[in-house]
Amino acid sequence: MKFLLLIGFLAAVYFLFFKKKTLIPPSSDNSQEEAMIPCAQCGTYVQVKEALMRDGKYYCSHECMKG
Ligand SMILES: [Zn+2]
Repeated sequence: MKFLLLIGFLAAVYFLFFKKKTLIPPSSDNSQEEAMIPCAQCGTYVQVKEALMRDGKYYCSHECMKG
């Protein structure tokens, strides 16, 4: 009987831990990837992952990157 209680206790701990894990919000890496930044040339806001970077500045297109 003690053995069954131990199993039940471990199962409860595992369940609580698993449930807690799923409640953690998405990592900040995702939100950073979808952040919007202004083009250094024309000011149009583009997603960081779609922006073009040159000399530490972000541009919305190759035309803007050329200046
Ligand atoms: Zn631009």
